[in-house]
Amino acid sequence: MKDIKVPFALPECGEEEINELLAVFKSGWLTTASRCARFEKDFARFIGAKHALAVNSATAALHLGLEALDITKGDMVLVPTLTFTATAEVVCYVHAQPIFVDCDPNTFCMTSEQVEKALKIQGISSDDSRLKAMIPVHFGGHPCDMDSLLAFSSMNQLKILEDAAHAFPTRYKERLVGTLSDITCFSFYANKTMTTGEGGMLCTNNDKIAQRVKVMRLHGINRDVWARFSTGASWEYDVVAPGFKYNMTDIAAAIGIHQLKKVKKFHEKRQRIAERYYRELKDVPGLMLPNIHCQMKDHSWYLFVVLVNSDSTKKAIDRNGLIKELARRQIGTSVHYKPLHRMSYYKSLYNLNPSMFPNAERIFERCLSLPIYSAMNDDQIEYVIQNIREILLP
Ligand SMILES: *Cc1c(COP(=O)(O)O)cnc(C)c1O
Repeated sequence: MKDIKVPFALPECGEEEINELLAVFKSGWLTTASRCARFEKDFARFIGAKHALAVNSATAALHLGLEALDITKGDMVLVPTLTFTATAEVVCYVHAQPIFVDCDPNTFCMTSEQVEKALKIQGISSDDSRLKAMIPVHFGGHPCDMDSLLAFSSMNQLKILEDAAHAFPTRYKERLVGTLSDITCFSFYANKTMTTGEGGMLCTNNDKIAQRVKVMRLHGINRDVWARFSTGASWEYDVVAPGFKYNMTDIAAAIGIHQLKKVKKFHEKRQRIAERYYRELKDVPGLMLPNIHCQMKDHSWYLFVVLVNSDSTKKAIDRNGLIKELARRQIGTSVHYKPLHRMSYYKSLYNLNPSMFPNAERIFERCLSLPIYSAMNDDQIEYVIQNIREILLP
């Protein structure tokens, strides 16, 4: 048997990225300039969005998005509890209050049904004037039911800011996630479906939002540094607000330009791995595979989350036991997520109780994310499947 190790996630970068990076270093211009502009243009075209604005993280994109939507002190923003803390922390950045919502038991996404349930439990009326926006997360790359979220939002005059950190590329009814609502934010963190090391992108079709985000991502200065420093341009600039330092570097954009060209191939590879997991793990007792409500090709397959039901597995092995056993065999896994209502900051500040979020609780106790990424080779995929079968089959 070969010595096989399977990390939980791994980026896939090649000669193209390396050569572009060399060109950036030789150019003498490392921060925001022509490569950012090109990356934005390519990304906007890929998505079919009017504006794609590059920033240094998805968290920054979400913060800028809320700022551009005028979300402020005293406002309330609906967020899922089953997500990464960035989705909710940005609501706190603008001094608004996150209202946590349980997830759908099958897709793990926020739905309008769960939103209504959360509002009822927390004693908030859906036409409460403090309720201003929602941040749905396309969990693991599964598209949210946007039609129903959009209907709920327009009925109650809410803005939608999509956290699409998992959703590049995800399709919803033949359209790529990125232009379905007011603002969509993508992440290029090292373990996402494409990377720039650190980075993010905000997409919008709204000119006013785009203009505000452009200004606020760079100190509130009313024109791009690139324009300001290009030869022949005037030195003059104005500051119109105390903005942020969220611009993307050309070093990051150099990686992004080439990652974007490969993203269709990356996606096909992820989908093939998902198909193999379905085919070769479907008969394993105690293992529940993702119950998706979309087509295989429309899911980004950023995550492959299984549920472990210890009652029906051999030796009653539970989720934590399976993680340990796989780690012993050098297979990396992860848990997405420990819900935010269990995190001490949100829990104590907003008086949250696990009984308010039964679906997220049930998922959290049982969920396990298997390795799924384009750089995984056939031996590694085989190794993961064989070991899970060996551990769980009687
Ligand atoms: C990764 C992630 C983010 C944050 O992305 P960064 O680019 O690291 O800021 C936000 N939301 C979700 C759901 C994520 O998984």
